[in-house]
Amino acid sequence: MTATTDVSGQTDSGDAAWNARVDLAALFRACALHDLHEGIDNHCSVAVPGVADRFLLNPYGPHWSELCAGDLLEVTPDGTVVGDSVSSYETTAFSLHAAVHAARPDANCVVHTHMPYATALALTEGGFDTRLSQNAAKFHGGRYAFYRDYGARFLTPDECAPIVELAASGVRVVLLANHGVLVIGETVARAWWDLYFFERAAMVQVLAASTGQRLTPMPEAVAIRAAEQFEEERDDAPITWAAVRRRLDRELPGYALPGNR
Ligand SMILES: [Zn+2]
Repeated sequence: MTATTDVSGQTDSGDAAWNARVDLAALFRACALHDLHEGIDNHCSVAVPGVADRFLLNPYGPHWSELCAGDLLEVTPDGTVVGDSVSSYETTAFSLHAAVHAARPDANCVVHTHMPYATALALTEGGFDTRLSQNAAKFHGGRYAFYRDYGARFLTPDECAPIVELAASGVRVVLLANHGVLVIGETVARAWWDLYFFERAAMVQVLAASTGQRLTPMPEAVAIRAAEQFEEERDDAPITWAAVRRRLDRELPGYALPGNR
């Protein structure tokens, strides 16, 4: 494949590092488009292809709806920002994402949001129920965990340790009590698939609970079988992600630009 050069001098197609930037910028804008964001707060990261231990992270300041590929910060394991960016990251963004990337080298994408319906369930005793709806069953059987001990902002290795332990277990979604959600995906496409369907399942759980009627979880064996079946569908996450990026191209274009720095 022949690489081309954009106006910033950075190469695109054929350049895995640049493509990772574009994918991550699209993820921020997709979160904004689907109301999974908190403006300039929260954070997502992607491992830099071919460069051990480094990852891309959003700078603190830009709204997620305006982030471009060139805005993203490349960060080393000691927190140094590579290059000449004048931007910096939010402290928790580095400490939490560095810890999770280190714990899960197979997972290239780590997402932390306070998306509303999942966060609403994080305020409840029971949290998210993986047996209530078909979408919820995607996360049944060890794919989801509820971390119930809020009391830390994940600023230090000690505060991050419980999350690192959960991440290392292979879990894909962690509901953080009184806080939000953490999604750990092998790729941006798979992280989006989990993020989006978890929020949709959380939404219908909240709506169902709002009726005041008794909720009816599916039997355990059915939930286990459904989760296994959805593993095959998750292989099609790139199809879903491509559709989301086409919608971005129509409704919130510009994420592939060299940036607003
Ligand atoms: Zn948070």
